[in-house]
Amino acid sequence: MADAVFRLDLPRNEPVRAYAPGAAETSSLAKRLAEMARECVEIPCIAGGREYFTGKVTEWRAPHDHSKVLCRWHAATPEVLAQAIEAAERARREWQAAPYQLRLAIFLKAAQLLAGPWRDTVNAATMLGQSKTCFQAEIDAACELIDFWRFNAYFALHQIYPDQPQSADGTWNYIDHRPLEGFVYAITPFNFTSIAGNLPTAPALMGNVALWKPSHSAMLSNYYVMKLLEAAGLPPGVVNFVPGSGRETTAALLGSEHFAGVHFTGSTEVFRGVWKKIAENLERYRGYPRIVGETGGKDFIFAHESAEVEALVTACVRGAFEYQGQKCSAASRAYLPRKLWARIKDRLVAEVKGIAMGDVQDFKNFMGAVIDERAYEKIAGTIDSARNDGGARIVAGGGASRKNGWFIQPTIIECSDPRFRTMQEEIFGPVLSVYAYDEDDLAGALELCDRTSPYALTGAVFAAD
Ligand code: NAD
Repeated sequence: MADAVFRLDLPRNEPVRAYAPGAAETSSLAKRLAEMARECVEIPCIAGGREYFTGKVTEWRAPHDHSKVLCRWHAATPEVLAQAIEAAERARREWQAAPYQLRLAIFLKAAQLLAGPWRDTVNAATMLGQSKTCFQAEIDAACELIDFWRFNAYFALHQIYPDQPQSADGTWNYIDHRPLEGFVYAITPFNFTSIAGNLPTAPALMGNVALWKPSHSAMLSNYYVMKLLEAAGLPPGVVNFVPGSGRETTAALLGSEHFAGVHFTGSTEVFRGVWKKIAENLERYRGYPRIVGETGGKDFIFAHESAEVEALVTACVRGAFEYQGQKCSAASRAYLPRKLWARIKDRLVAEVKGIAMGDVQDFKNFMGAVIDERAYEKIAGTIDSARNDGGARIVAGGGASRKNGWFIQPTIIECSDPRFRTMQEEIFGPVLSVYAYDEDDLAGALELCDRTSPYALTGAVFAAD
């Protein structure tokens, strides 16, 4: 498939903008933020290129400022979902027959638009709607999504398509990377605009069609990503934007005979539910659905007594508290040798106390608010239960305020019980649990780190020896 006519160089990661005070990029983003903060966007469903304002409306306010209504989104009704499935079916044949160069070119164009004229819009929407600071929005909504689109195109062209079997003399063995015979259902999380943009488009790049259910709490940025894809020339019906309740939309779409695959990122529990529902419906489908999902984490920092203090403290602060700890990869449990913990504790607590938290339109803030009331209640409740438990002690933060937005102080919990609840469960908030281990039992501490939680998505080991 790949030929000498159409080649791509290996992309370079999109450079991250620093948004330094007084820089042109900073004032440009601030201007777009100010405009967007004054607007309230009416967000429709988009199926087959048509917009549907269904009247089933939910409004979304900035998590850090309850007074700002940013958008009103229209949920897909069963009729709209049926239209979206039909539109995807109509688009499917032409799209899968389209030359791969055309498909790749559209996503490369999308990357170019996001790197250029759309960057401020998608960043500003991510900042306001999901309460990300400019740096967190930049690395996610701009750079990571640009990289996804560029690298996906590169890997399709230079790795997937050319991966062909050997042929003996007189034979020609050949793999056709045929798209699925139905639609891919992309269910996306709130916390990364880039993941939301990637889940429907990675299958589309390979000739599939998708129905995309964005998260209710990332609606503004996700809508702009959809509009950007249209501007890049994605044909109607290839990706269909169907906001709605996770449960109802999923029940309707997994009931369709045209369902061919799910592309999910989100919590472990929801993914298990989706998988079970697919199994229940297996007999309805025309093929065996592909199931792809990435889920939760309980990510660790493990330090050896030889660890460098500077690096360790920085890792704890940035790993645990950037984007309010709402990352699948956020550091949320740390195993530190007792003597080292005694040495760095005051320093770490002082750093955490110095963290600026507030409105993300103020570029000096390091943290914004957590995503919504449900998250706020869950995180604040977890901190409260730690406060009242003998197995743990709050050594930094612990406070919360819902007055202007859903603000939770960055919090460190020192756990005397290494299996304390907050050492095991994903909290998805600005909470770091620390267990100080006996340095004479390094092997035991490593064993604890390995066995305490059913999962760890990321982990970091600090040691100079
Ligand atoms: P979530 O599971 O609550 O929601 C994810 C998506 O599923 C949303 O679109 C939501 O509307 C939908 N959904 C919710 N309930 C549903 C149901 N009953 N049936 C079908 N769909 C339903 O997750 P979230 O709060 O948006 O994101 C945070 C979670 O995602 C965390 O657990 C985090 O670790 C995980 N995550 C993982 C990765 C990764 O790469 N592994 C990346 C980002 C986020």
